[in-house]
Amino acid sequence: MVYTLGIDIGSTTSKCCLIDENREIVGTSLIKSGTGTRGPEKAMEAIEKESGIKKEDIAKIIVTGYGRKNFDGDGDMSELSCHAKGMKFLFPDVRTIIDIGGQDSKVMKLSEDGKLLTFLMNDKCAAGTGRFLDVMAGILGMDIDELSETALLSDTPAKISSTCTVFAESEVISRLSSGTAIPDLVAGICESVATKVSSLVKRVGVMEKVCMSGGVAKNAGVRRAIENNLDIKLYHSELSQLAGALGAALSAMDKYEKENA
Ligand code: ADP
Repeated sequence: MVYTLGIDIGSTTSKCCLIDENREIVGTSLIKSGTGTRGPEKAMEAIEKESGIKKEDIAKIIVTGYGRKNFDGDGDMSELSCHAKGMKFLFPDVRTIIDIGGQDSKVMKLSEDGKLLTFLMNDKCAAGTGRFLDVMAGILGMDIDELSETALLSDTPAKISSTCTVFAESEVISRLSSGTAIPDLVAGICESVATKVSSLVKRVGVMEKVCMSGGVAKNAGVRRAIENNLDIKLYHSELSQLAGALGAALSAMDKYEKENA
């Protein structure tokens, strides 16, 4: 059996996805530390342990993500291409991808056959990214997954008017002390991220099926707010955070097969 691996080295997390020649996912790993840390090595160790397949038995490794130049693989690929490929595999009908990661957000529009037609990215500002949510979870003393659950308890999100993370931090602290209900505040925080990314989607033009990749796809509060803002059904998968690594593994398999045809 031939195996290939994709490794996505992000700003906050390192993810691996191992597939076999039938394009079956053999194993995945996710370590909560990203580029510049031991995260990528730990993600490799975790996948070897989970799958029982050693690095030397993997035919090809493709590296993607923010830290892709700092890892020794058999080649690297842009996050855009890998997310597009991974999401197309998970959702064959996808036409728009919303990818919110730890330090940027991207919107990609695909052709019917999965080619990247256009994209927009916010990497200048923490607002509208996972970083904003991580900072707010810290202020509220919550885990990031707790933030997601709490948002769903509110139907009346508090309006967070500051567009800058630093000012929004002060605003949240002042709302906390003035007694705004925590679920309303958390829903407002999710709404703030959703509003920013929804405006990127509107700029590229909403084309369904719309699917979400990246770690923030795990946040049900953000997903609900995007659905309401865009008046669409938003799809995601348990593997959304691994979409980049999956796309890299699939590209590695395509490359291997081409070289060995
Ligand atoms: P990167 O590739 O830039 O490291 P990821 O795509 O892995 O980023 O996404 C990281 C973000 O995902 C975090 O900043 C966090 O906000 C969000 N996240 C991660 N796990 C969860 C979870 N269980 N529930 C909600 N949000 C999550």
